[in-house]
Amino acid sequence: MNALKQEIAAMIAHDGPMTLERYMSLCLGHPRHGYYMTRDPFGAGGDFITAPEISQMFGELLGVWATEAWRLAGSPASARLIELGPGRGTLMADVLRVARIAPGFLEAVSVHLVEMSPALRRIQEQTLARAAKPVSWSADVNDTPPGPAIMLANEFFDALPVRHYVKTITGWRERLVGLDAAGELVFGLSHQTEPSLQIPAREGSIIEVSAAAQRIMGEIAARLVQEGGALLVIDYGYAETSLGDSLQAVARHAYVDPLAEPGEADLTAHVDFAALARAAGAEGAKVLGPVTQAHFLLQLGIERRAQSLMKKATPEQAQAIVDALDRLTGVKDPRRHMGALFKVMAVTHPDMPDMPGFVV
Ligand code: SAH
Repeated sequence: MNALKQEIAAMIAHDGPMTLERYMSLCLGHPRHGYYMTRDPFGAGGDFITAPEISQMFGELLGVWATEAWRLAGSPASARLIELGPGRGTLMADVLRVARIAPGFLEAVSVHLVEMSPALRRIQEQTLARAAKPVSWSADVNDTPPGPAIMLANEFFDALPVRHYVKTITGWRERLVGLDAAGELVFGLSHQTEPSLQIPAREGSIIEVSAAAQRIMGEIAARLVQEGGALLVIDYGYAETSLGDSLQAVARHAYVDPLAEPGEADLTAHVDFAALARAAGAEGAKVLGPVTQAHFLLQLGIERRAQSLMKKATPEQAQAIVDALDRLTGVKDPRRHMGALFKVMAVTHPDMPDMPGFVV
């Protein structure tokens, strides 16, 4: 039994079964054993690969979008460029490289990374050591300095913990993590039902709720309404709220049992974009999309960018560019292609004009 499993088992033995939300938070963010807190999970040798690690084109186009968002916000002389969950820092490095071409942008912004993991902060520090702007870190978006903000979040919201409610004959009950007779972690259900949930559904149906995602979205939206700016969210998920369980555990590019080795696998859930849009709308923010990642990247000109990179490329590099373009914008094979599974949504100040990537 690994150290985190022992710790969780002891907590359950002492306090009783814990919510899935608490279990997920501990697996990802436990200060000593949490998945993100101790390691670099990205890339071919890690557990999964993300769009900025697939190709520089992704971060470059987001950089163009960020500078355009700043311009459409009225080119404020003092603004923030904020990234949530920056991973290895690759996306921000690509963003800052292309941002040089936007007159006034780099002079106007200060750069802030929202990261809870000390291990990843160190990697981000190295990646951004020679960036065009100094960078500062916060563990919470609420601790970033005030002012108009351009914010980017790629694969951040899927890492926030979810709750599950399961329909039983007596009503909806919350899914809990408990111990079986042998002392192993098992899923179970709360004895209490949730009278506030009045959603008709068949027995066995599951409702997945990310309270943390909705809370963070609400806080960001309120800030954007007050201070101006825009947030771009890119993640795998669904455009309409629906019943079902999307919790998944991934280690070394394969699905694993989420209870088997807590802290050793990435635990995520698909993002409920409709719920995020409602949370943002409730604060008075404007919501654009979600559109598919394919739609967004093609509209921002990823094909032109690929062609111009290929002019200077070796044959192997040219093939890598073609493969990356296919991976980022293809839609046929959901195991390989990110174009349809991944969605893009923007949340902005209500006066922001329509933005590139979201024209339908
Ligand atoms: N955007 C990156 C990494 C995605 S992985 C990429 O596309 O490659 C998720 C990132 O969010 C990691 O950097 C992780 O440490 C961070 N993270 C997860 N939950 C967080 C939280 N609650 N607060 C701050 N950062 C968090």
